[in-house]
Amino acid sequence: MLKLRFHGRGGQGAKVASRTVGTAAFMEGCNVQDFPLYGAERRGAPISAFTRIARGQIMERGVIPDPDVIIVMDHTLLSDPQAAPLSGSNKGGVVFVNTPESPEQLKADYDIDALVITLDLTKIGLDMVGSSILSTLAGAVASRIIGIGEDSLKDAVEKELSGIIADRELLEKNIEAALYCFRSLEPVEMKTLQSEHGKSTVITMPFERARISSPAINAAASSILKQTGNWKVFRPFWDYDVCNKCMICVSRCPEGCISLNEEGFPSVDNEHCKGCLICVEECPKKAIKAVRGPVPDQVEVTGE
Ligand code: SF4
Ligand code: SF4
Repeated sequence: MLKLRFHGRGGQGAKVASRTVGTAAFMEGCNVQDFPLYGAERRGAPISAFTRIARGQIMERGVIPDPDVIIVMDHTLLSDPQAAPLSGSNKGGVVFVNTPESPEQLKADYDIDALVITLDLTKIGLDMVGSSILSTLAGAVASRIIGIGEDSLKDAVEKELSGIIADRELLEKNIEAALYCFRSLEPVEMKTLQSEHGKSTVITMPFERARISSPAINAAASSILKQTGNWKVFRPFWDYDVCNKCMICVSRCPEGCISLNEEGFPSVDNEHCKGCLICVEECPKKAIKAVRGPVPDQVEVTGE
């Protein structure tokens, strides 16, 4: 049996990624389980998804603590103690990370024993699909790593996306980008899909009361206590030459983290901005751009 664990942020498509590789394996005649664990279920919050694939019966249930393959869809999760994406990784396994950085750099930075593979899925998604939703791309790299055939992957992407995307052109772009990611990686020598007949391990799900599993969210004054700033992949960036100070972005921000500066322009609290980009969507003047990477210096751009 092969066990895969996906780590992403709410909105990145970790659940559909696990489903895509599961469906592709199912099309190759395997038995499959896949399911997500949302936790806080907030856009930008760390989430996990799990896939078990076997030629025989799958008797295990519950979360996967010891995955053969870990797919990290957002580099920043590597240093998030609540996500802990590297937990249970082992020397014989594979850790894939969506990042422009090299595998050698990540191995050194995070002391990873497993084989590390990297690819900048976010750039590929933006360039080829025009979106940072990475479900099919992450499903494609997982499929490549475990040795799924290209035709099965293509059929799985088509099947999974046709239920959620009506736009045929967008679906085709997703298939193209998924195949590009698939072909960008070398196949990995993984354990063969062995049946686990007769080994009826049933893992009990570690259900915890919400107050224990998400203390920062359930605590009083949670928005202030929980620094959701480390959830973001993209950041809002204001162009004060275009902004007309209408304050719509201020009122639409779900975290309440946009205030006004002394000149009356919106100013974001980066420790709490979670990168949901609702402000970008809502601004009628298109004065807010989504940027990837470190916080840009707002002062430099406004020329102050
Ligand atoms: S919604 Fe746009 S125009 Fe209005 S205050 Fe915000 S950035 Fe400025
Ligand atoms: S500032 Fe924008 S991106 Fe940040 S949390 Fe508020 S709405 Fe979302």
